[in-house]
Amino acid sequence: MNEALSYVHPNPTSAWGTYLSQVDRVTPYLGPLVRWVETLKRPKRALIVDVPIEMDDGTIAHFEGYRVQYNLARGPGKGGVRFHPDVTLEEVMALAAWMTIKTAAVNLPYGGAKGGIRVDPGQLSIKELERVTRRYTSEIGVIIGPLSDIPAPDVNTNAQIMAWIMDTYSVNAGGTATGVVTGKPIHLGGSLGRVKATGRGVFVTGREAARRVGLNLQGARVAVQGFGNVGSVSAQLFAEAGAIVVAVQDHTGTIHNDKGLDLPKLLAYVQASPQRGVAGFAQAERMDNEEFWSVACDILIPAALEGQISAARAQKIRARLVLEGANGPTVPAADDVFKDRGILVVPDVICNAGGVTVSYFEWVQDFSSFFWTEDEINQRLDRIMINALSQIWDKADQHKITLRTATYAVACERILAAREERGLYP
Ligand code: GLU
Repeated sequence: MNEALSYVHPNPTSAWGTYLSQVDRVTPYLGPLVRWVETLKRPKRALIVDVPIEMDDGTIAHFEGYRVQYNLARGPGKGGVRFHPDVTLEEVMALAAWMTIKTAAVNLPYGGAKGGIRVDPGQLSIKELERVTRRYTSEIGVIIGPLSDIPAPDVNTNAQIMAWIMDTYSVNAGGTATGVVTGKPIHLGGSLGRVKATGRGVFVTGREAARRVGLNLQGARVAVQGFGNVGSVSAQLFAEAGAIVVAVQDHTGTIHNDKGLDLPKLLAYVQASPQRGVAGFAQAERMDNEEFWSVACDILIPAALEGQISAARAQKIRARLVLEGANGPTVPAADDVFKDRGILVVPDVICNAGGVTVSYFEWVQDFSSFFWTEDEINQRLDRIMINALSQIWDKADQHKITLRTATYAVACERILAAREERGLYP
């Protein structure tokens, strides 16, 4: 009865193919709600927009933009906006689907959405970046809003870009609407703790998982792929807890130091380097990119892009714990290898949910125009993450399934129960 979507072409290692297979794996655990499972395999609404801007040299450039509202059964759409030259509709669909699972896994009153522009922001001047952001916001303005769909930062987007989105939306709406976007600068309705929230969530869930498997963080060896917001913050928090970060890989290369990298120095180096990358850091040796995957470590944190851990790489990985800071870093065949090898994966849809959780706090604070302290935010964040992980762990024990399938089971029950209670219209 239900044919596959005609406008996407998933393969087993693409983001969308990965997501579909994750849904197939949870299907046996959905009980009577399985009647609604097809709803998890289709986006509710996908908007493709043309984003034309005038470049600084007077020429006109066009970029392809997307906003996908994947599922709105539990509340407004929520999810970041990614600026990257490889962004496609299919990728944004997968990312929006993962947001749906993620918000349900931590029980935030949201659905899932995601947006993106197919652009390399490194090639744009700051003024061109602003024009791209504003025109994109205006084009997707028909479907976003504080009560309908709330964007946030993702790969290559930041608080300044969120401020432009907020301003553009507000100008068109005729009044300041801080709640239309999260991850804003603090004095424009942003929340304390938001910048570090995703990395903090990776650390908190990782610490909890380490405790449960009997891994002492003191002296534990950590390898991190990606040194953007998520990778750098989680690396620092693990180092502060006594772990040693032995390897970091980013778009400029891989560096290694068996005695542990000095993270404050590395961060300062990356911020000052023209390529904004780790390559060339003096107190480390350079390492071949593929060797990164077999580095001797206890904890591996993929915190870059999706599809990084293939089955072949999963065979080489020597960590006991994999903490998914990125969205979709592990393909399903690699999940099977991890399971066979007894390597525990804390999946993205819980591990990196700290960002959207503090986004939720920001949105609540904007509505009430009453702002919390950083301590209050961190305490509430930690509590939500620890409680969510504990429910997921119980589910995994109950059915003898991986943490990923258990997270999907907890989340999909919530999504499909909401779907059933709301009923179909007409
Ligand atoms: N882009 C982040 C994510 O993938 C945060 C989304 C949000 O805060 O809405 O979870």
